[in-house]
Amino acid sequence: MEDCIFCKIANKQEKAEIVYEDEEFVVFKDINPKADIHLLIVPKKHIESVNELSEEDIELIGRMFLIPKRLKEKFPEAKDGYNLVFNVGKGGGQIINHLHLHFLAGKRYGWP
Ligand code: AMP
Ligand code: ZN
Repeated sequence: MEDCIFCKIANKQEKAEIVYEDEEFVVFKDINPKADIHLLIVPKKHIESVNELSEEDIELIGRMFLIPKRLKEKFPEAKDGYNLVFNVGKGGGQIINHLHLHFLAGKRYGWP
């Protein structure tokens, strides 16, 4: 998607502080963190939101959920636990229309 900021980050056309990457996903620090550790787990495939997931994405999304435990090893703040959050659609507070899973750990700054 041409004007999608997260596609651009995945393609390295825009900068971000990337902390993990593989063939299918990129994980980077949220530019406006709501916690000591606030990361965004983003599939490189452009999917708008949870509402646009289809059968063909089932394995991709399954693998997406194997990433948090890797992040837990990298960030000691997450050792005791963390939050995973999907905002879905306007009413769910979704601002960026490219699927992303928030990973929050350590001290929170008021959200979620
Ligand atoms: P959501 O409300 O779920 O769509 O969350 C989008 C998140 O992306 C927000 O927490 C923003 O701070 C974050 N964000 C927006 N643009 C960037 C960017 N260029 N790099 C890193 N994080 C971003
Ligand atoms: Zn995108």
